[in-house]
Amino acid sequence: MTGARRRLWPQHLLKGIAMVRRTLVLTTLIAVAAAYSVEPVKTQSRPSTSVVLYEGARLISGDGSQPIASSAMLVENGMITRVGAKGSVTAPAGASRVDLTGKTVMPTLINGHGHPGFQRGLTYSADNLTRENIMDDLNRALYFGVAAVQSQGIEKGEVMYEIRADQEAGRLGGARLHIAGRGIGAPNAGPGGAAYAGIAYEVTTEGQARQAVQELAAKKVNVVKIWVDDRNGRAPRLSPNVYRAVVDEGHKHGLPVNAHVFYHTDTVDLVNAGINAIVHLVRDKEMDDALVASIVQHNVYVMPNLSGEWGTYAELPHWLKDGDPLMTLLQESASPPVIARMKKGYESRDPAAVERGRTGYAILQRSLAKLARANAKVTLGCDTGLQDHLFGMSEQRELESMVKAGMTPMQVVVAATSRPAEYLKLDKMGVLAAGKEADFLVLDANPLDDITNTQRISRIYMKGAEVDRASLRPSLTRTSTN
Ligand SMILES: [Zn+2]
Repeated sequence: MTGARRRLWPQHLLKGIAMVRRTLVLTTLIAVAAAYSVEPVKTQSRPSTSVVLYEGARLISGDGSQPIASSAMLVENGMITRVGAKGSVTAPAGASRVDLTGKTVMPTLINGHGHPGFQRGLTYSADNLTRENIMDDLNRALYFGVAAVQSQGIEKGEVMYEIRADQEAGRLGGARLHIAGRGIGAPNAGPGGAAYAGIAYEVTTEGQARQAVQELAAKKVNVVKIWVDDRNGRAPRLSPNVYRAVVDEGHKHGLPVNAHVFYHTDTVDLVNAGINAIVHLVRDKEMDDALVASIVQHNVYVMPNLSGEWGTYAELPHWLKDGDPLMTLLQESASPPVIARMKKGYESRDPAAVERGRTGYAILQRSLAKLARANAKVTLGCDTGLQDHLFGMSEQRELESMVKAGMTPMQVVVAATSRPAEYLKLDKMGVLAAGKEADFLVLDANPLDDITNTQRISRIYMKGAEVDRASLRPSLTRTSTN
């Protein structure tokens, strides 16, 4: 308080003001404490302010270039300022050094297709779309090395917009959330599950479609999502004139338009219509050469969504067995009843169902192999957040499935780092190079030898600050009571 003010206020009033101030400070402290107590755990949201030279690791930049066998990466205030061979990068005076000899560093993963917030413990419902539960999913993603997630269009209310704003302001950590808001489908032919009822726009005319896109643009969504599917004959699918209106209106507002697809014939037309990404592979048949060529020519991002692979196992898969690196991560980050249910799904499996699963899945594998050979823009996207398709675990699974389908580990690394960063316009993420944020994984083994080595995580850095993974475990593994 200034002297001038002091003279204007009698002593007893000043005392009163001081008391009010103390009360205000106390109230604010309590409010802040309360706000933080509903946050699962505050993960790093602010950049490190230090200058650090990371030396000796094999460095996979994420852009597809050859790895540097023994690298040096200088990080200043959370940003990468130099990358080169060890010995070629001089650290400024006062910089600290971190010896990563024997480790591999690569960018953090980015997932183009997720649905955070629906699952809480064993329950799966739109009622779970709370700030706390969505943050659990984003923290779980980060625990497995996933630093950004595009939610694909079943977002209810304002909560995800608030989370995105708080992350952008540096007030909140977790994997960075990008949103599509309410996606657009034909009546009863939008998102599939009961939990998603009433969330998406249901449109039948071009006018309604344009109106929906205008509302989404006003809310500054990152992408527009549409569903073009009849849901196994349940309802007529979005008609071509309507989805063309969405694409046109989206592009007028500078928004990429992404499509859920099922049928080959729809996909051919959507690619011609200027769709920017298809967030599933075609599922009724293998993609023909003409479609693959058209996807390449139109620069369409393609998300494989290979979790159908989970249905091809007749018995418990290796990644749900104790000691497997993925199972270890899962045990550190998911509640025991959820893991038990995942395992139970593999007890006494019906051989006919397994066979059907394998036949359907083989179609996806063949399409993906073709796309990879044609250098299509394959992008990590795996419908994370469906029931028991847990964040982090699903993305890590997807990488192995992509390799098994015929992609090289290097193609998969690109598909999971620089390419989704390009797709999501996260221009400071996805590549380890000067001018990018220091978002990277330190791995105990080389994922180019075996892609599952992305699960052998030693440390995770976001903006140069190490993610305190141990502090995330209690909230992620707690067993919810409902
Ligand atoms: Zn989805």
